[in-house]
Amino acid sequence: MTNSNPTKTDKEIIAELHTEIVRLIDFAELSSDWFWEQDRNLKFIAFSGAGVSRISRHQSDFIGRRRWEMPISPASFNDMQAHKACCERREEFRDFQYCIFNTQGELQRFTISGTPIYTEEGEFDGYRGTGTNITDLYLARKAFKETEQRLSQIVVGSPIASFVIDSEHIITHWNKACEVLTGIPASKAIGTKNCWQGFYDSPRPVLANLVLRGALNQDIEKHYGKKFRPSALIPGAYEAEDFFPNMQGGKWLFFTAAPLVDELGHKTGAIETLQDITRQKEQEKKILHQAHFDSLTDLPNRFLALDRLNLLIEQTKREHKKLAVLFIDLDDFKKINDTLGHAFGDELLIEASNRLRKTIRNSDTIGRLGGDEFIVLIDDLNCERAVQPIAENLLSSFRQTFKVQNRELLLTASIGISIYPNDGTQPDELLRNADSAMYFSKNQGRNAYHFFTEKMNEGIERRLQIEEQMHGALSRDEFVLNYQPVFDVNSGAIVGAEALLRWSSPVLGQLSPDEFIPIAEQSGLIVPIGYFVLQQALEDTQKWITQYSKPFTIAVNLSPLQFRDPKLTQRIKDTLKGLELPGSCLNLEITEGVLLGNQQHIEQAFIDFAALNIQISMDDFGTGYSSLNYLRQYKFSTLKIDRSFIQDFETDPSAPALINATIAMAHALNLSVIAEGVETKTQKKYLLKKDCDFAQGYYYSKPLAKEDFNRLLSCN
Ligand code: C2E
Ligand code: CA
Ligand code: CA
Repeated sequence: MTNSNPTKTDKEIIAELHTEIVRLIDFAELSSDWFWEQDRNLKFIAFSGAGVSRISRHQSDFIGRRRWEMPISPASFNDMQAHKACCERREEFRDFQYCIFNTQGELQRFTISGTPIYTEEGEFDGYRGTGTNITDLYLARKAFKETEQRLSQIVVGSPIASFVIDSEHIITHWNKACEVLTGIPASKAIGTKNCWQGFYDSPRPVLANLVLRGALNQDIEKHYGKKFRPSALIPGAYEAEDFFPNMQGGKWLFFTAAPLVDELGHKTGAIETLQDITRQKEQEKKILHQAHFDSLTDLPNRFLALDRLNLLIEQTKREHKKLAVLFIDLDDFKKINDTLGHAFGDELLIEASNRLRKTIRNSDTIGRLGGDEFIVLIDDLNCERAVQPIAENLLSSFRQTFKVQNRELLLTASIGISIYPNDGTQPDELLRNADSAMYFSKNQGRNAYHFFTEKMNEGIERRLQIEEQMHGALSRDEFVLNYQPVFDVNSGAIVGAEALLRWSSPVLGQLSPDEFIPIAEQSGLIVPIGYFVLQQALEDTQKWITQYSKPFTIAVNLSPLQFRDPKLTQRIKDTLKGLELPGSCLNLEITEGVLLGNQQHIEQAFIDFAALNIQISMDDFGTGYSSLNYLRQYKFSTLKIDRSFIQDFETDPSAPALINATIAMAHALNLSVIAEGVETKTQKKYLLKKDCDFAQGYYYSKPLAKEDFNRLLSCN
């Protein structure tokens, strides 16, 4: 038995045999009858019908002659004797066969049937009857026998498992390949009807039997489903595919069954071929699986998950229930991938997906939408509140640390939930809204879930608008810098300024950096924008330094993405060189977020900046982890106390203590301290008393446009 596809030639041979049989039947139909009459001496007195002309060119040849006086071939002598005897007894006779040579010398076969006729007085008056030329039929039968022989040879010799059943459904042929495939020997199969019991699932009928029974398409379909289909190659034949679990290891078989017909077109049986297509089926299944399941986590992929969502929506609609779509995004996964490598990230994803899968019921759907995004579908809900414990469980499934490649780490996720039909009736709408809710969870500090509300989409809409406008903003000159002076707390002199970016968009109006900087970071646009800030701030600084010939430090904020840009140090070096500025006039402000990530890279950046005499400030100190470790590990020059501490100073009793401690600690580490957001005289006085080095804030000056800052400098 081969596992290959049905070979066309075998199929074609079977088809060929069928057309041959059909042609033979057509021949048989051409044969025609005639009538004859004999007198009481058995001499012919009349003939009618076209058929007789094939026996003799002139009908008159027979008139007045007896049948046995004609050129009868010796092959007919037996029937002739019987015929004679019948006539002597004045009996009716049927189908005596004669062979004669006609006037053209061709051997013709015909059968004769007749009934005696009597006069009114009851006297024998001769015979009347019919003749039928069976020459063609005889030839057809002979050809059919040959065909049948050829057929059985094909069946026996075919590499395709094939067997033949007769009109009684009994197996007449069972070839070697059939033995191999089914394990049933021909000796056991031939002559039986049901040798495949245990091989075929009873009561599954053999396709050949169906074909033999002449079941109509609809009937076959009605009883046995769509797996039986009319063959495209062989008229009247069927094919089917089916799985047989009870064959060794289970097998997929491909069947064809074609009816066998005799010279008269009657079904005499059927031939069926069987082919093992298990391997092909497994391949198909694998491809189908690959198309529907994520190869890493083996969860349903986006395509399948959305397909299920579609089905669940239909079902939920019918049952008047609710359906929840949970959009899950792992927090900070990109950072893990970037710093610990993709192989690590992959393992973590598998672990994470396993935990999510275990948290939900088997009947719920979970899928991977791509990257670190997952979807969970919870149906059959009576009210949306029922999702809350599920969302909580999903979040708390991450509470335990993940152990990957001998590392332990904590991972959290943000979840957004949309509900059918409240938040949408279409899959994409529900998905989009769950995504918005997920974003909201991220912005609320992550490791949280939120239900979708209309307001969230307004936020998303705005985000998209900002990102769209930001793309051309640099080339349209929409960005400018403001400068907020930094003062020496002791002397009250201006020692520098912080460059603060401003964007006024003709479409969106004036935008706050707190709104557009995070978007610039996420879209990557912060890198070119950051270069613009550096260039512009250093150009302005160069003018002020030459104009006022006083020490002046310009502070520029750097976002994590900029800091990781490998070209950053070289670009700064080139810019400083081009403007003939010392590195010491530049102070880069970074937040703790910058320090998470590739250790080696950060260390190198600190070394490079130190070599250029560039200062580095720890911005927003007190808001993040405020890890003292970082302050020890990296060479910072300045620490900036976050403005929230300065602002809480008069209301929160613990704020002054924190400010004290921070200043003392910074000085102990040899760092200078800037207090930002100083708004009142009291604050300033306190900072002075506590030895804070520098300060900036509305008390001194708001961030100013370049011209205004210039004016301020000239009168300082
Ligand atoms: P930041 O680095 O903490 O900047 C100080 C912020 O405090 C500025 O807000 C400034 O206008 C504000 N401020 C100054 N004095 C006072 C005060 O007395 N009271 C109060 N309430 N606020 C005061 P701004 O300009 O809106 O900038 C917001 C943030 O945007 C900055 O926070 C910084 O993180 C970021 N940013 C601004 N420009 C850039 C830039 O060029 N690059 C990067 N990466 N980030 C920037
Ligand atoms: Ca800053
Ligand atoms: Ca700050």
